[in-house]
Amino acid sequence: MKRIGVLTSGGDAPGMNAAIRSVVRSGLHYGMEVYGIREGYKGLLEENVEAMTYRSVSEIINRGGTILKTARCLEFATEEGVSKAVEAAKRLGLEGIVVVGGDGSFRGARDLSRNGLPTIGIPGTIDNDIACTDYTIGFDTALNTACEAIDKLKDTCASHNRCSVVEVMGRHAGHIAMHVGIANGAESIIVPEKRFDLKADIVDRIEKADDKGKSHFIVILAEGIGQASMMAKQIEEITGVETRATILGHIQRGGSPTVQDRVMATRMGVKAVELLKEGVGNRVIAYKSGQVVDYDITEALNMTKSVEEDLVHASQVVTE
Ligand code: ADP
Repeated sequence: MKRIGVLTSGGDAPGMNAAIRSVVRSGLHYGMEVYGIREGYKGLLEENVEAMTYRSVSEIINRGGTILKTARCLEFATEEGVSKAVEAAKRLGLEGIVVVGGDGSFRGARDLSRNGLPTIGIPGTIDNDIACTDYTIGFDTALNTACEAIDKLKDTCASHNRCSVVEVMGRHAGHIAMHVGIANGAESIIVPEKRFDLKADIVDRIEKADDKGKSHFIVILAEGIGQASMMAKQIEEITGVETRATILGHIQRGGSPTVQDRVMATRMGVKAVELLKEGVGNRVIAYKSGQVVDYDITEALNMTKSVEEDLVHASQVVTE
C-alpha cells in the first residue's frame, strides 16, 4: 500500500494520540503516505483529511484526547454510508484505514473491509470491554484517574465517618469498577455482570467494617448499575451512616496517558500498519497473554469476556 488513513472513532480514550503517532510514524517508516481523517467516519464521508508528517505527531504521545477528534456518525452505519465512505477513500487514494475505537467502530471497520477497503481496528476505550483483547488503550489511565479521585474522597469520608457511593464508568462491563474497587480498598464493588443484593453486598459489609472500627466506607458502582443517589439514600436509611453519592463521569476519559497506554498504543499501531503493508484487512489488533496479536473482526466481535473471576474472588477475600 502506498497511502493509508488513520481515524479515531466512538468514545475518546487517553492513548489515542499515541496510537495515531505510532500509525503515522510506522506508515512513514515503511514508505507510505499517511492521512489523518478528522472526526472518525464522519470525516471520511466528508473527505476531511490532512497529510500527516513525522512532525505533525510530535509531542502528542503525552496528550489525552485525540488530535484527530472523534465523532459518532449514524449516516456511516448504513449500507449507503459505507459505500459512500469507500468511494471517498478511493477519491483520496487511501488503500487502507486504521480505526482506533471500540466495538461499534470495529463494525464499521468490518463493513469497509467487506466493501473492498482493507481496514484494521485498534482497541481504544477506557472500559476494557472489548472481548478479544485482554487490554484496551485508555484503561490504565482511566483507572489511575479514578483511583486518585477516590483516594481524595476517602480522606474526606474518613474525616466525617461517612460512606461514599462512587459511580465509575462501565455501562456493560465492570472492569473499571472491579480494578479501582480493589485499588481503593472499597467495602463493596457492584458490577453489571453480577446480580447484587443491597443487604448482603453492601449493608452487611458496611456494618462489619463499622464493627472493626473503620471510619470510612467506599461503595464502587459501575455506571451500568446507575442510581448512585438512590443507593446512597437507602444505605444511609438502613445503616445510619451519612452517605454521599459521587459520579466521576467524564473526568475518567481525560488526562495524560500512562506509560502502559503509551506503550500499548505504540505496539498496536505498528502491528496495524504492518498488516496493511501486507495488504491484509478486516483484522483487529489485540493483546492476548502478553503478546500483540490480531483476529478476524467478525470472529473478534463474536467473542465474549467477563470480569475475571479471580479479581472478584480477591476483592471479596480482602474485604471479609
Ligand atoms: P465505540 O467504537 O466506542 O463502540 P460507537 O458504538 O459509538 O463507539 O461507534 C462509533 C461509530 O462507529 C458510530 O458512530 C458509527 O459511525 C460506527 N458504527 C457503530 N456501529 C456500527 C455498525 N453496526 N455498523 C457500521 N458502523 C457502525
